[in-house]
Amino acid sequence: MNEIYDVIVIGGGPAGMMAAGTAASRGKRVLLLEKNPGLGKKLLITGGGRCNLTNNKTEVRTMLSKYKGNDQFLFSAFAQFSVKDTLAFFNGRGLATKEENEGRIFPVSDSAKSVFDVLVKYMKENKVEVKTGVEVTALSSEALAKEEDGHIIVTTSTKDRIIAKVVILATGGISRPETGSTGEGFKWLKKLEHTVIENDFALVPVALSDAWVKKLGGVSLKDIKLTTFQNDEKQSMGKGDVMFTHFGITGPLALNMSKEIGELLKYGKVTAEIDLFPAEDLGALRKRLQELLSGDPNKKLKNVLSSIVPSALCDALLEIAKINGDTKNNLVSAENRKALVKLMKSIPLNVSHLLGADKAVVSSGGVELKEVNFKTMQSRKIPNLYLVGDVLNIDRPSGGYSLQLCWTTGWVAGSNV
Ligand SMILES: Cc1cc2nc3c(=O)[nH]c(=O)nc-3n(C[C@H](O)[C@H](O)[C@H](O)COP(=O)(O)OP(=O)(O)OC[C@H]3O[C@@H](n4cnc5c(N)ncnc54)[C@H](O)[C@@H]3O)c2cc1C
Repeated sequence: MNEIYDVIVIGGGPAGMMAAGTAASRGKRVLLLEKNPGLGKKLLITGGGRCNLTNNKTEVRTMLSKYKGNDQFLFSAFAQFSVKDTLAFFNGRGLATKEENEGRIFPVSDSAKSVFDVLVKYMKENKVEVKTGVEVTALSSEALAKEEDGHIIVTTSTKDRIIAKVVILATGGISRPETGSTGEGFKWLKKLEHTVIENDFALVPVALSDAWVKKLGGVSLKDIKLTTFQNDEKQSMGKGDVMFTHFGITGPLALNMSKEIGELLKYGKVTAEIDLFPAEDLGALRKRLQELLSGDPNKKLKNVLSSIVPSALCDALLEIAKINGDTKNNLVSAENRKALVKLMKSIPLNVSHLLGADKAVVSSGGVELKEVNFKTMQSRKIPNLYLVGDVLNIDRPSGGYSLQLCWTTGWVAGSNV
């Protein structure tokens, strides 16, 4: 005979951990299932690793005005767990917080790990059973229909069938899939006849603040590698074609990466690097340049360089590396050759904004809000299913508003299951 849990939480992100700890604090027997080897992978990279955990809008109505017209849904949830409650929750558990520009609240430690630690301790103290490395593979209407006495059967990658009275779905959205948010939850929800609004990010050109870019309008680069960074941490990488415009970069690779870049820009400065020759390592490229220069010792550097990079870009490279392009090839120092090769493998770019992102309709995607009872976070379609965090279709700006939704909806679900 299988044991029956009061609550199974699927997904160990911020919303799932808050929901699990809160349900368990009421004496419920709670199992949290997370497919990654560890919990909170996305939480740990929030705010560039510093975690902007909420925003100091302690007046509920002012806070709700930030969620683009969804206040009628969110009011009953925020009336139960507001920004004040979030601060009391974390501060009361020893996490000191500080306010930065635009009311953004961060831990004084400047470390997302310290926020994560509070949640892990909260779950441990309340005896939540946590299983990591276990992927839920099915939560179908069939399983729900087969429920006995209102129980739900959750099937996992380890072929277990685990029974619970209630499931809290906290599988997240679809941004940064490498963190585990790959949208399985949405597939199950669609099968359960929930309406899932598709994520609707616009593909837009990327504006750069580097002055040299202005001279490169129309220059195309083929088969390059573009890597993005935040706080010097590598974020994402793509290969393909880009085109410079007088304001920045466009072309298939830049457009495809614009969604990622837009997401990163919400949390701080974004830089990028272009590798002109991803298939060649530094050594091979150094050799190629050396051969080129020694093949034409009396020519000017700028004239031979243009045989391997577009001539317009060639001037920019020399400008960035502060090398005089009129230098004769046999007089180019080893130091300058090294600097040039390094630059060809990593041309630095400073992203200023996405072009037209202000006009584009960027929706978060997720479950239609009218299908959820925000007094409890219970699905209006499946009574023993609760929905929390990024699975809900709530547009919000940057500034700690996303995590506040996780704390509020997680706490409300945990308090009402
Ligand atoms: C780079 C970046 C920085 C951010 N910074 C901030 C910030 O500073 N402030 C802020 O407010 N918001 C920030 N956000 C947004 C915030 O991280 C999200 O809103 C938040 O993580 C959503 O939490 P969640 O618990 O709903 O989902 P997630 O954090 O996505 O967690 C979902 C979990 O469910 C697991 N899962 C999925 N499917 C299954 C399955 N089938 N079986 C088992 N487990 C499964 C996943 O592995 C994952 O661990 C940032 C987002 C990004 C991408």
